[in-house]
Amino acid sequence: MTLKSTQDKGIRTLAIHGGENSDGGSGASAPDLVMSSTFVVDEEISFSANNLTSETPFVYTRWDNPTTQQLEQKLAILEQAEACIAFASGMAASAAVMLAHLNQGDHLVISNTNYPGTAEFARETLTRLGVEVSPVDTSDTASIENAMRPNTRMVWIETPSNPLLRITDIAAAAQIAHAREALLVVDSTFASPIATRPLTLGADLVLHSLTKYIGGHGDAMGGSVCGKQALIGPLRGEALVHYGGVISPFNAWLIMRGMATLPLRMRCHQQNALALAVFLEADARVERVLYPGLESHPQHALARAQMDNYSGMISFRCADPKAVAGRMMAELEVIHYAVSLGHHRSLIYLMQTDDLIGSSYRLDGAELDKYRETAGAGVFRFSVGLEDSEDLIRDLDRVLG
Ligand SMILES: *Cc1c(COP(=O)(O)O)cnc(C)c1O
Repeated sequence: MTLKSTQDKGIRTLAIHGGENSDGGSGASAPDLVMSSTFVVDEEISFSANNLTSETPFVYTRWDNPTTQQLEQKLAILEQAEACIAFASGMAASAAVMLAHLNQGDHLVISNTNYPGTAEFARETLTRLGVEVSPVDTSDTASIENAMRPNTRMVWIETPSNPLLRITDIAAAAQIAHAREALLVVDSTFASPIATRPLTLGADLVLHSLTKYIGGHGDAMGGSVCGKQALIGPLRGEALVHYGGVISPFNAWLIMRGMATLPLRMRCHQQNALALAVFLEADARVERVLYPGLESHPQHALARAQMDNYSGMISFRCADPKAVAGRMMAELEVIHYAVSLGHHRSLIYLMQTDDLIGSSYRLDGAELDKYRETAGAGVFRFSVGLEDSEDLIRDLDRVLG
């Protein structure tokens, strides 16, 4: 069974049924898990991915797979996109987009604080290949405008951004990028399609680490890129088939199962995060709390306008963060001291300023001062899970000092 129309359905119905298309042979209600790397064909098909079209039948799972295709369709529906490709991880998706769309001599404008893997890939790999890279604070629209050059081909934003939860105005960034015929790419991992649909605000490509909110259960890695068919089609041939970062059909199946509850989970993540943010903000041991849903967030008005859900990510700061981190590792009972985010389990991790600045962001001058003014020696990045908020509050209360 497939939905006849997605236009007239609500988000919860779409998250459950959207894109699913079980084969009908068995009558299975759940999508088929097709763990086959190759497919028996009954016609001659070119061995070259260069001849791949949307009409090509299933040939080889690095090209396309029936389970992965259902995940891609579900993601496209939630992002209101024409097309989607899934990858093995968020980084496989990010590297694919940058390598496939940027050439030697091109210029990239990118958020100066974002996911460390993306930050390092842009500063190290892309510059080695002859791409010019300008990291700027994209939450300040004027900084994007000032960084644009005649050879700017891509503007890459992450909103909310890691780890300071800065918000970038997607519609404004799209206008600036398009005035110079550059693509706007949005890493929307922290928001999820429940909070923001960047394509509807003018973005050209939307990227997700499916490992985070979309899969939601901390058991499978994946990444995705959504956008117009004209941009996604060529990406499949070059960036999926040739770079090879293909998702396992099993992970695609797990992530699809996670997606069915995404709208419900995001509602609970937001509710819990707000409760925890209010607790932290009122606590004298906490110096600063950053949560887009709090009025004290410097861009709360933009967050309210651009996001339908404030998500479950909080960053907060306290005196002597290393001592607090030590107590967290030794004494937390419910919250896991671990990297990653967006899972049903709460996760917390100290993002030390010197570490991030030295290895990933390499900020200096006024931008470094601005970062330190907000983050101090470091912020705790807290991915508030789906547990009872009272239990999370008690767990934190015990370790804060
Ligand atoms: C985790 C993450 C990535 C990378 O995704 P992986 O699935 O870990 O490769 C990219 N961007 C953001 C914002 C992330 O949080």
